[in-house]
Amino acid sequence: MFSRIMVANRGEIALRIIRACREMGIETVAICSKSDENARYLKQADITVCIGPPESDGSYLNIPSIISAAEITDIEAIHPGYGFLSEVGHFAEVCESSNIVFVGPRSEVLKKLGNKTEARKIAIANKVPVVPGSESVVKDQQQALDIAHKIGYPVIIKASAGGGGRGMRVAHNNISLVNSLAIAQREAESAFKDPSIYIEKYIEDARHVEVQIFGDNYGNIIHLGERDCTLQRRHQKLVEESPSPSISERLREDICKAAVKIARAVNYTNAGTVEFLVDKEGKFYFIEVNTRLQVEHPVTEMVTGIDLVKQQIRIAYGERLNIKQKKINNQGVSLECRVYAEDPSNGFRPQPGKITMYNPPGGRGVRVDSHVHAGYEISPYYDSLISKVIVNQKTREEAIACMKRALNEYEIEGIKTTIPLSLELISHPQFANGNINTNFVENLLSKG
Ligand code: ADP
Repeated sequence: MFSRIMVANRGEIALRIIRACREMGIETVAICSKSDENARYLKQADITVCIGPPESDGSYLNIPSIISAAEITDIEAIHPGYGFLSEVGHFAEVCESSNIVFVGPRSEVLKKLGNKTEARKIAIANKVPVVPGSESVVKDQQQALDIAHKIGYPVIIKASAGGGGRGMRVAHNNISLVNSLAIAQREAESAFKDPSIYIEKYIEDARHVEVQIFGDNYGNIIHLGERDCTLQRRHQKLVEESPSPSISERLREDICKAAVKIARAVNYTNAGTVEFLVDKEGKFYFIEVNTRLQVEHPVTEMVTGIDLVKQQIRIAYGERLNIKQKKINNQGVSLECRVYAEDPSNGFRPQPGKITMYNPPGGRGVRVDSHVHAGYEISPYYDSLISKVIVNQKTREEAIACMKRALNEYEIEGIKTTIPLSLELISHPQFANGNINTNFVENLLSKG
C-alpha cells in the first residue's frame, strides 16, 4: 500500500480523505492556502504545505505549486477530492508524467468524459438513451434554431465543459434562444475557458437519478446502486438519497446497467458517477459522467457499508476490486442534507465570518461530515458548503424523521445556514410522498 498520499483539496472533503488514510495507516500531506493556514482540520494531516494565496487560482488550482509540494514531501499519490483539480485531465496528466499516482481515472478518460458533447457521443454509440438534442457542439445561431425546431421547445443550452450547475439556460421560443445563446457562450468562456455549447430538449418535471460506478485496472466494473438528487436549487443539489423513491425495480436495473455500459465503453477506472434524468413517463436519459468522488458519496457508503475513499485508494494502488456485483446488498434508506453557509431568507447570500457556537447532531444512524467548529472562520474565497448531515434508517419514513431530528439538534451560531430551509423541504408532504421534480425548490421559493 502507499505510505504517503497528498490530499489536494480543502475543507470537509480534505478531512474525509485524511481520515480514511489514517485508518489505512497511510501518512498524509495536506495542502492549504494562506486563508486556511490555521484551520484545525489540518492538524489531522502528518504534514501541511501552504502552497499559495487565498485565491484558488494561486493555490488549490495552482498545478506547479501542488506538484512542487508533492516533490518536496515525497508523496506517491494525490487524491484530488471533488471540485478544484479533480476533473482536470491536464492535472492527471502532469501527475502521470511526474510518476505520481492520480487517485481517479486516467487523464485520457477525464478528458473524454469531461467534454459533455463527447460523453453524449459515447452514450449514443453504446445505445444508452440521451436527451434529444444537438449531435455535437452548436456552431451558430441558425444551427441552434434548426435543432430547437426539430426537438421542440423548451430547450436547454449547456456548456460542453460545464459543471456545478453553471452556464445552463432554458429557452422557450426563438427569441429567447437567440438571446440566451450569446450569453451562454460568454458565460461558458468566462467560467470554463471554453465557449462551446450544445442544446438538449428541456425535460420538464424531471428527476435526477445517478449511479455510482467503480472500475479497477483489470477491466472489472461494478455499480453500487443509485442516488436520487432531485431536490436542487438552481441545478445544484441540496438533498440526496438512496434508493431513489420514484423508480421501479425494473427501471433501477436498466439505469444501473446503462451506467456500467458507459463505464465499460471507456474502460473506466476508479470511482465515477453516471448521471441521468428520468421524465414523467419513466423514460431515462443520460446527461453526463462525473469522473471523481461526489459530494454525496456518503449516501452510498451508508446503504452499501463500503468506504468509497478507501476503495478509491486501493484501486489507485493497483489492487483488484474485491467486491462482487452480486454481493452488494444495499440496506435501508439513506438521506443527505448539505449545509451551506448561506442565508436563504436573503437571496442565499454567502455568510463568511466566525462560527461562535457549534454543536452538531449525533445519535443512531447519524453521520456529520464537516471540518468546522466553534471559532472556525468561514472564508469568503471558497464554496459555501460547510457540512453534510447523512442518516441511514430502515425505511424512508424513519430516515426523514431521523433527519428532521438531527437538523433540529444542529446548533450553529454566528452565521446563517441553509438548515432551516432543508428542514422545511424535507418536512413537505410532497417530499414525503417522493413526488417532486428538479423545480420543486424554485416553485416553493417563488410562492414565498
Ligand atoms: P452540471 O455538470 O453543471 O452539474 P448537469 O448536466 O449534470 O450539469 O445537469 C445538472 C442539473 O441541471 C440536472 O440535475 C437537472 O436538474 C438540470 N438539467 C440538465 N439538463 C437538463 C435537461 N435536458 N432538461 C431538464 N433539466 C436539465
